[in-house]
Amino acid sequence: MNEDTTQIVEKLLASAQKVVIVGHKNPDGDAVGSCLGLSFFLKSLGHTTTVIMPNDFPDFLKWLPGVEEIIVHEREREKSTELINSSDLVFTLDFNSLDRVGGELQTVLENCSAKFVMIDHHQQPADYAVATYSDVKMSSTSEMVFHFMDALGQTEKLSKEIAVNLYTGIMTDTGSFRFSSTTPTTHRVAAKLIEAGAESAIVNQNVYDTNSPERMKLLGVALNNLVILPELYTAYITLTQKELDDHNFKKGDTEGFVNYALSVKGVVFAVIFIENKQESIVKISFRSKGNFSVNDFARNHYSGGGHINAAGGKSSQDLNKTINEFISILPRYKNELKDAS
Ligand code: 5GP
Ligand code: MN
Repeated sequence: MNEDTTQIVEKLLASAQKVVIVGHKNPDGDAVGSCLGLSFFLKSLGHTTTVIMPNDFPDFLKWLPGVEEIIVHEREREKSTELINSSDLVFTLDFNSLDRVGGELQTVLENCSAKFVMIDHHQQPADYAVATYSDVKMSSTSEMVFHFMDALGQTEKLSKEIAVNLYTGIMTDTGSFRFSSTTPTTHRVAAKLIEAGAESAIVNQNVYDTNSPERMKLLGVALNNLVILPELYTAYITLTQKELDDHNFKKGDTEGFVNYALSVKGVVFAVIFIENKQESIVKISFRSKGNFSVNDFARNHYSGGGHINAAGGKSSQDLNKTINEFISILPRYKNELKDAS
């Protein structure tokens, strides 16, 4: 975090008492871990903090220290709205524009009088915060929360609760330190978090070894539905609403499935299309290798975005049409895909 931003944040924190911390819709490990980590940190500085998530998050995150304090806006609209309206300062974490919160919560945030601080690593940050700490080179927002503490000269406040949350966020957002966003600094931060009490094996077990039998069966269906287009260096997976229903789908169950498509030899572009009848959309996750930008792809065709190698978006057409359209768009990218392979 640069000196100017640090100074603004120090000033804001000097007078702010009530702080709200908000993560993005469909919160993942980085959203939840960074928000809880920051919450414990700001509490240690004497602030009153509340973490608000737009909607529910996966069970594999429900063991995190402090998780019981999270307010899910969808479930507790009034309380969440009141907390935001009476706050002095709102931190928005792990997203780059208020429409990533979506729905009513977005409107509440847009209309509240609190000042905003953004901490985020997604491309093209919107300009709504008085202090914007944005760095697209960062592995995760959780890593940034550590650097944020460091910039404020407060790393001695690093507690086990903070460490476990930030470690979980870094681990999940880097695919267990596999993705190219993982830097030597990421490992140095992880080492400090382990020293402060984050036990890597336990975090791994809690996150990755708590699969339900239904989720494993659903993974079988997803892998069976895998389509590989070798001449376009692309692989995609589809899941229909019926397939989800048949496996008692719960939030988070499809997390990571798209990485199996990306693990096929020669594939540099992987996609999963997941039908969501309730919202009348197909939710899409994109992953890539090398310099093929799925952020651009998702922005250009699927009103989405994210990072160069991991992005998301949606289609309001039905699943078949969505896939046919995708297959018709893809050849335009043949050269770019070839270059990335
Ligand atoms: P995932 O595919 O795991 O849901 O998301 C991958 C990355 O893309 C995440 O960093 C996430 O924040 C971002 N992302 C996912 N869906 C959307 C979307 O609909 N719009 C935008 N702008 N970003 C998204
Ligand atoms: Mn993230």
